[in-house]
Amino acid sequence: MRDIKPWEVNKIFNEALETIAVSQVKKFYPSYIAKMTELPLGVVINKLEELEEQEALKIKHEFLCEECCRSILTVNKNDFFDPEVTCLYCGTENNFDPLDAIPIIELDDGYRESFSKKKPLKRELMLV
Ligand SMILES: [Zn+2]
Repeated sequence: MRDIKPWEVNKIFNEALETIAVSQVKKFYPSYIAKMTELPLGVVINKLEELEEQEALKIKHEFLCEECCRSILTVNKNDFFDPEVTCLYCGTENNFDPLDAIPIIELDDGYRESFSKKKPLKRELMLV
């Protein structure tokens, strides 16, 4: 891949987030943005962590059933949780290792709304 300048990374990343914010997608994986934008996953995760510090989104931890791979537990990053979880779908008793957590992103409601509110304003400006 060619060298991408930091401002380009920001632009590409923000456009992808805006697309998600105005869509029906409620939760998504960092790999989803990486695929959308073709940015390296590490870059995407750094950007998401920056936005988490700004309270624009939350990075939660998700665990998948070892047997059927369905998502059966989502916790806040630093929350204590009981690692023994019986799968609702297949009945397998899982014993989760926190290191196996998959990061999953939830946008803050206010942050999400800030994108949808932008649209009508643009149209009004165009009428002037
Ligand atoms: Zn299962």
